[in-house]
Amino acid sequence: MTGSADAVASVAPLAALAPLAPLSTEEFIAGIEAAAARFDAATYPQRELPAEDWAVLTEAGVLLPVLPAEYGGRDSHVEMCRVVEVLAERNLALAVYTAVVTGLALRPVVLWAGEEARREVLPLFAGPLAPTAGFASTEPGCGSAMSGLTTTFEEVEGGYRIRGRKHWQALSATASWWLVVARRDGDDGREYGWFVVERGDGFHTSHRYEALGLKVIDYGVNDIDAFVPAHRRIEVGAGNLSSMVDIYLSGRALIGALACGFLRRVAREARAYADARRIGRSPLSAIGFVRYRLEAVDSAHTVCAALNHHVRTRLDLTSDLAPAFASIQAVKIVATELMVSSANHYQQLTGGEGYRSGSPTNIAAQAFLDSRVFTIFDGTNDLLSQQLAQHCLDRAGRADGSGSLDSSGSPDGWDGSDGRGLSAFLADWAPTAPAVSAHGLDLRFLDGELGQEHLVLAGRVIAYTFAAARVLEWAAEPAPTPTAGPARRPRSSRPTSSASAWSSTSWRASGPVTGPTSEPGPAGLSRASHQRVVPIPKTWESWAMPKKRQRPATLAEITAALPPVEYWYGEGIPSPAGRTEFTDDDGRLWRKVRGPLHRNLARRLVTQADELIVGEGAGGHFRHVPPADRLTAWHEIKDRLHADEAPSYHPYEFASMDGLLTLLYIEESC
Ligand SMILES: Cc1cc2nc3c(=O)[nH]c(=O)nc-3n(C[C@H](O)[C@H](O)[C@H](O)COP(=O)(O)OP(=O)(O)OC[C@H]3O[C@@H](n4cnc5c(N)ncnc54)[C@H](O)[C@@H]3O)c2cc1C
Repeated sequence: MTGSADAVASVAPLAALAPLAPLSTEEFIAGIEAAAARFDAATYPQRELPAEDWAVLTEAGVLLPVLPAEYGGRDSHVEMCRVVEVLAERNLALAVYTAVVTGLALRPVVLWAGEEARREVLPLFAGPLAPTAGFASTEPGCGSAMSGLTTTFEEVEGGYRIRGRKHWQALSATASWWLVVARRDGDDGREYGWFVVERGDGFHTSHRYEALGLKVIDYGVNDIDAFVPAHRRIEVGAGNLSSMVDIYLSGRALIGALACGFLRRVAREARAYADARRIGRSPLSAIGFVRYRLEAVDSAHTVCAALNHHVRTRLDLTSDLAPAFASIQAVKIVATELMVSSANHYQQLTGGEGYRSGSPTNIAAQAFLDSRVFTIFDGTNDLLSQQLAQHCLDRAGRADGSGSLDSSGSPDGWDGSDGRGLSAFLADWAPTAPAVSAHGLDLRFLDGELGQEHLVLAGRVIAYTFAAARVLEWAAEPAPTPTAGPARRPRSSRPTSSASAWSSTSWRASGPVTGPTSEPGPAGLSRASHQRVVPIPKTWESWAMPKKRQRPATLAEITAALPPVEYWYGEGIPSPAGRTEFTDDDGRLWRKVRGPLHRNLARRLVTQADELIVGEGAGGHFRHVPPADRLTAWHEIKDRLHADEAPSYHPYEFASMDGLLTLLYIEESC
C-alpha cells in the first residue's frame, strides 16, 4: 500500500495540516475534542452541515486517521475509532457524517484502489478544505438483499459505463466523490464491481429525502449515468458478494466506538436530569423504576464501552476485516439496539420535555430521533442477526474448524466440529465461550430446527452472548501503562491494548467486576487500589440465563429486591465528585467547575464560597456547613486532605446552573 517516492512528491500541498503530523494520539484527540465542542447537540442547529463547518472539522484532522502517512494522514485504526467516539458524544449525527467519509468511502480507496486512483483522490482529503465522499450501495428496489442490485456496469473504451439508481445515500447531494457498486451479467455469470466516481462523472441527485433524524446529513435519490476511467475500478474480493463483505464491515465496526460516545452522553444527561427534576418533594431519581431505567442506560454504556474496547484493540480497520465478520456483526447488533433502547429510556424519563425539540433541559428528543435509524442502516439488524446465526451454524457443522475471531488470524478456540448443535459450538467458540461458562447459559433451545425467524432470534442470542463475553474479557484484562502511544504503527501490526483505549472509560462504583489496573478511579474509590472497576449494573445480569430454569420472580419479590429510596445517594451510586453535575438535598443542581482542588485553593473557598457541603461517606450524606462553622470544619479536615488512607477528603468547586453561586464540595472517601 505504500506509494512510490514520485507519487508522494506529486501530491497536493499538505502544509496546512502538517502541524498535526507529529502530535501524539492524546494531543491529536484533544484537538478533535476542542473542535467538536461548538457542534454540541444541545445547541447546534438541526440542519445540513454547511461547508465551512465541515472545514472546521477537517482542519482539526478528522479525516487524517484513515489516510496513509505518505498522503499526509495518520494511518491509525485507534484514532479512527476515537475520532467518531469523541464526535458521537457531542453530536451523534456528526459522528455518522465523519464515519461515512472515513470508514465507508475512503477506507476502501486506501485499501484496494490502485496507485493512480489513490494519488488522484487521497491528497484531496488530506488538506484543510477536504471535500466529502459517500458510499452508494442501496437502491430503491434493493437494500437488504444485494443480489437484487440493478445498477450495471459495462466495459467501454478507457474505462466503464455505470448506469442505475441508488437512494438513501448519506451526503447524497453534497458529496463530491462516491464509491459505487454495480453488477455485470456475463456468460460466466454475475460479477459485482466497485468504482470510485466523481460527481461530475455523471452522479446526479434527482430528489431529496427529508429524514426524521441525523439532520446534518442530506439524503436522496441518486441517478447514475457515468463514465469512470479504468484506473478507478477497485479490486475488492473476487467479484461475488460474499467475497466483498469486508467493505461493509468497517462502518459496522465503527458503530462500537460511536455507540460508546453516544451512550456516555445519554447516561450522564439522563442521570443529571433525573437528579434535578423534582416530583413532589423528591427528585425524579428517587423513584425506583426511574432508577431501573437509569441503570439500564448505564448498563448499555458499560456494554458498549467493552465492545468499543474490543473494536479498538482486537480489530484493525487499516487491514482486512473479513476474518472478524462474526464479531463485527455482533458489535453492530448489540450496540445499535442498546443505543435505541437507551434513547427510549432517556426520552421517557424526561417526560414532556423529552418530546420538545430544542428543550433547554435535555437532548432526549434529538437522541431518540438520531439513534433510531441505527438498527436499520448499515445492514438492517434483522438480516445481520440471521447472517450471524447462519455463520455459526455453518461453522458448527463444519469439520475443518478454520476461521478466527480477530483480524490477526489467531485461532478462535473451535477445534473442529463433529456436527454437534449450536449450543455446544457456542460453549466452545472463543467469542462466546467465556460468557456461556461464566453465566452458566443453557442455550440448548438453539439446537432444534431453526426457521428463518428463529435464525434471526438465534443471531441476537449469539450477539448478546458475544457482548457478555467482551465485558468479562475487558474486566479481566490488565490495564495498560498510561502513556500515550505513537500515532502510527506498521500497517501489518495488530493494534494492542493501549492507554488511549482506556482514556474515556467511565467509572462507577456499583456492582464492579475488578481487574488489576493502574488507572485512577473516581473519587470515592481508593486511588491506592490497583483494581480496574468495570461497572456491571444490575440489569446486565438479566442478560444471563441461568442453567436451571428458575421460577419467575413475583412482582412482590422484584419490588422487595429494589434498593431502598435512600439508595439515591448511597453506596453504588456515583458520588457527586465523580459526576459533572449533581443535585444536593435542597434540590439545587450544581455543575462541577474543577477539582480535586489544591489545598490552598480549597482553603480560600472555605471563606469565599457561597456554600460549603461535606459529602460524608463518599457523598452518601450531605453535611451543610453554616458560615460560622466553616473554619472549625476546615481544621478538622485539612490534615486528611488527599490522604492516602481513609478517611481522606477531596475538595471540588461547583457552580450553580445560573453561574451565580459557588459551592465548595469536600468529599469524604472511606
Ligand atoms: C439515514 C439512512 C442513511 C443511510 N445511508 C446509506 C448510505 O450511506 N449508503 C447506502 O448505500 N445506503 C444507505 N442507507 C440505506 C440503508 O443501508 C438501507 O435502508 C438498509 O440497508 C435497509 O434496506 P432497505 O431500506 O431497502 O430495507 P429492506 O431491505 O426493504 O428491509 C426492510 C425491513 O425488512 C426486514 N428484513 C429484511 N431482511 C430481513 C431478514 N433477512 N430477516 C428478517 N427481517 C428482514 C427488516 O426488518 C428490515 O428493516 C441509509 C439509510 C438510512 C435510513
